Amino acid sequence: MSPLAHIEALLPRYQGVIRREEPMARHTAFKVGGACDLYLAPESLDDLCMAVATLSREGIPLIVVGGGSNLLVKDGGIEGAVITLAGLDTTLDEEVAGETVFLTVPAGIKTQRLGRFAAQKGYAGLNFTTGIPGTLGGALAMNAGTTPVAFEGILDALTVVDRSGEIHTVSRHALTLSYRHLTIGGKDRHDEAFPIIVSARLRLTRGTREALMTERKRLLKKRTQSQPVHLPSAGCFFKNPPQGPSAGKLIDDLGLKGETHGRAQVSPLHANYLVNTGGATAADIIALATRVKERVKRRHGIQLDEEVTLVGKEA
Ligand SMILES: Cc1cc2nc3c(=O)[nH]c(=O)nc-3n(C[C@H](O)[C@H](O)[C@H](O)COP(=O)(O)OP(=O)(O)OC[C@H]3O[C@@H](n4cnc5c(N)ncnc54)[C@H](O)[C@@H]3O)c2cc1C
Repeated sequence: MSPLAHIEALLPRYQGVIRREEPMARHTAFKVGGACDLYLAPESLDDLCMAVATLSREGIPLIVVGGGSNLLVKDGGIEGAVITLAGLDTTLDEEVAGETVFLTVPAGIKTQRLGRFAAQKGYAGLNFTTGIPGTLGGALAMNAGTTPVAFEGILDALTVVDRSGEIHTVSRHALTLSYRHLTIGGKDRHDEAFPIIVSARLRLTRGTREALMTERKRLLKKRTQSQPVHLPSAGCFFKNPPQGPSAGKLIDDLGLKGETHGRAQVSPLHANYLVNTGGATAADIIALATRVKERVKRRHGIQLDEEVTLVGKEA
């Protein structure tokens, strides 16, 4: 019998949520994606470590999902387990040392909540996250940011759970961070042995509450004017190429704004956003992305790479 069928028996002390055949469209900002075999929301760090160790021992593949705001799950769903940290404690720990503030933050916290908390306390360094959806764990795995700033500028250390369920602290010098990329022990988010980030220590500085809150308002307004924030998407679909114009400019120059495949569309507002106009499938989005890539390659000779993380299997 598959270990998936009797997972409850394999996890007798586990307290968290276990669901089967959970539609991933419920857990992704694109609102597409088939079901995963198993959906786990541990209630504590012990629960998480137990679940991860058991899944590994039983050979059940595991993907961590934060806010799903950078994930494109294919229509055939995910074989194996999906784990979310949404059920874990989200208490922050503050340590002020002169002008420096160290925040130790659980990875399941919403990035927006963290940014707002820091600004309200007058801690500077997180305003670049204003308007970035999802959780801190996903933001760290992606080294999320807004050019030219990203998490690499404020990250001091990570606490992770490895795939055998052991907890480790990893200091900044053992991490490699670059544009939308983090490696821990040489592994990145595409690697099935990528550790699960459970908390991060961030290095901020003392600032002024009023100035930080005003800047947040300005940044949010700018976003709503220039990005299709009211339609399901995963933010910028492609990474900006290392040299030359941004992906958005390359796509816009080809007149592709408004281009569709099924119910997927290149946003008329921002050419690097592919949006779900209602009822799109992952296959629609992938087909549209493929067409965009081909056109950019043909016209500009530039190969666009996805910023979005693609997971799962075809329907
Ligand atoms: C409207 C909109 C605007 C956006 N704007 C920006 C922007 O300005 N800048 C930017 O960088 N991004 C942006 N994004 C993309 C996305 O919001 C960020 O990448 C975000 O930080 C991802 O966080 P998440 O929790 O949703 O990650 P998810 O989408 O859930 O996961 C992303 C990747 O991280 C991994 N992961 C998630 N949590 C963990 C964990 N705890 N441990 C290990 N791995 C983990 C997942 O397995 C996956 O590989 C935008 C998206 C949308 C929809």
